Amino acid sequence: MRRILFLIVLLLTRFLAVAQRDCRSTEYAQNALRKDPSLALAMQQVESFTRTQLERKPAQQAAGGISAYSTGILSDSAHSLNTDTAGGTGSAGGMTIITIPVVVHIIYNSQAQNIGDAQILSQIKVLNTDYRKLNADTAAIPSYFLPRAADCGFQFALAKVDTSGYATSGIIRKHTSIQAFALDDDMKYSATGGDDAWDRDSYLNIWVCSMANGVVGFSSVPGGPRSTDGIVVDYRAFGTSGTATAPFNLGRTATHEIGHWLNLIHTWGDAYCGNDYVDDTPQQQAADLGDPKGIIVSCGNGPYGDMYMNYMDLTNDDRLNMFTYGQRARMLALFVPGGCRLPILHSNGLGTPLQSSSGGSSPNTPTHEPGSAAVSIYPNPSVGPLSIILSDPTQIGSVMDIYNQLGQKVMSRKVDQLQMQLDISILQRGVYFIRIRDGIQGSATKLVKI
Ligand SMILES: [Zn+2]
Repeated sequence: MRRILFLIVLLLTRFLAVAQRDCRSTEYAQNALRKDPSLALAMQQVESFTRTQLERKPAQQAAGGISAYSTGILSDSAHSLNTDTAGGTGSAGGMTIITIPVVVHIIYNSQAQNIGDAQILSQIKVLNTDYRKLNADTAAIPSYFLPRAADCGFQFALAKVDTSGYATSGIIRKHTSIQAFALDDDMKYSATGGDDAWDRDSYLNIWVCSMANGVVGFSSVPGGPRSTDGIVVDYRAFGTSGTATAPFNLGRTATHEIGHWLNLIHTWGDAYCGNDYVDDTPQQQAADLGDPKGIIVSCGNGPYGDMYMNYMDLTNDDRLNMFTYGQRARMLALFVPGGCRLPILHSNGLGTPLQSSSGGSSPNTPTHEPGSAAVSIYPNPSVGPLSIILSDPTQIGSVMDIYNQLGQKVMSRKVDQLQMQLDISILQRGVYFIRIRDGIQGSATKLVKI
């Protein structure tokens, strides 16, 4: 009987662990520091720079007073950069809007993990409402915290131009043999089953993959290595449709992790009654989890208690609905001259792409025909040797045919593994189509021989 009780408790604990938000940014940072102690100095530099900026230009925390800080610090970086001055936000003089180009790396082992474009776009939409205080559930912010709720002025858009200057959808899809990733950087390198980061000075990297042990996401630390910069989100906690699963199906995991990417600390300061270095978030004892209601007083933070609806707490997606002016000021401090995120204001990621000679997309971007059975080709266009990556293990054993534009079969090959090398140097220049026999009717992936 005792054993059965123990098992029930174990199962219950396991269930609760899955159902509660498990952001591992703090643990990830500790691991990174252990691996590279010199990271502490870089993190300290970002922190002291941030505090110096905030002392110089304290955040405007009064209700309705939005613009002084942001327009002040970014006044010399308007136009020709990824900034814009928006009027009509309810503030005097308008405020500066920063648009961040995003590249989403979908690292998938199963078809389910290869989430669709619509789900990715649903996440971008959430970011654009949460960071502009346009989310419908601002109506649920308690009246006593409402004056602190800020339009942070950040917008997010899938990149249109890749690192080589060519057109991109801002979405990279890559098959991996790894079924679930651990809390490390393997998803951020092609060599370890992931996909390499794009330059952080021009893009926010978001890796979406399957995370082990119920982790929903984590962020790199500002000041950390370039090759691991960005956020990671489990495919079940990304966007609002498809595989997004309650209670993390409203896209708030990415909102939270990008908060870390922009230098925000958890509201409890990652310590008992800790400090998040933001004045207008109440000190609180620890993380609030799940679905709290009413006023929760801790660390003497009465009468209003914990701000458990703050995006930097760990409650369920439908509880989270606000950033504060103080948090906005901390984030914006990264974008002043000398700030570590300043270069992204000069990104060409949302600019006009170069035209490749074949009219195709970048040779650096694997192509994938929407709606097809997920055949990726790299590089494409190609002069000869190329890699073909399939996503569906059931395709192993079938035959891959290459057709020219007249519909004539010019090459065939048996599919013996999910990643194959193929040499098309014998083919004439032109456009070809790859089909997997017995695959989805009508689906083909375009291949350009140059
Ligand atoms: Zn977190």
